[in-house]
Amino acid sequence: MKVSICSYRPILVPCSLDNFDYQVDPYVGCEHSCHYCYALNQAETDWAKEIFVYNDLTSQLRGELGKISPQKIYMSYYTDPYQTLETEQCQTRKVLKLFLENGFSASILTKSDLVLRDMDLLKEMDNASVSVSVAFNDNHIRQQFEAKTIDTEDRIAALSKLREAGIKTSALICPVIPFITDVVPLVDMLEPHTDVIWIYGLSINERSDKNWQNIQDILNNHFPKLKEQIESAVFSADHSYWIQLRQELERLQKDRQLNLNIHL
Ligand code: SF4
Repeated sequence: MKVSICSYRPILVPCSLDNFDYQVDPYVGCEHSCHYCYALNQAETDWAKEIFVYNDLTSQLRGELGKISPQKIYMSYYTDPYQTLETEQCQTRKVLKLFLENGFSASILTKSDLVLRDMDLLKEMDNASVSVSVAFNDNHIRQQFEAKTIDTEDRIAALSKLREAGIKTSALICPVIPFITDVVPLVDMLEPHTDVIWIYGLSINERSDKNWQNIQDILNNHFPKLKEQIESAVFSADHSYWIQLRQELERLQKDRQLNLNIHL
């Protein structure tokens, strides 16, 4: 993996998510190497093999934050703020320190337990929150789809520690891969450690998308018997797989009074 310096580009950029006006991505690229990553479709760089860091993140971001009022900022839309490189580069920690110094707060989404390192800063912020995403019940299968992430159980353990420390937590089951992701056991594992679980299906726009081509390679190599079923569920015009799963989860939500936010 190559580390390069990012030529000038804004660090703080407008965010399209509800409830957030701005987002910060401390890196360009992501070492986690999830083969389904939607960022692969728009990447201008070799996303998992060359990671860009900002030359002087602190002074650049300080200037950018100075132009807006204190608020909660989303981290990270395009990359994981706690990829392995963060242990030496500390770009995410620098961002959080700046947020804290200037009255901002953070909403973090990660697949790593490295976020625990920054609990001291998150606890000091007004209403900081951390989300952890998981998609696989079996860690052997996880490694086929996410080459360099940590075990599902370790992510959930991190979520538990964050919650115990008084930090607001949520979880994402994302992406649900038809006939591979078993959603209900993941809900059971996550539910004691979070107030809300968001559930999103695998979203592919076109068969020519880079992430779908990656998934096809995995299916050909490891799940040849499921390939046709999965492809049909992903691209079927009647969305029957998703409608059925949604109905099942809505029943579960009602029966067990769960706080599920289902986007299937
Ligand atoms: S952690 Fe997120 S940004 Fe990084 S490769 Fe995986 S899906 Fe993409």
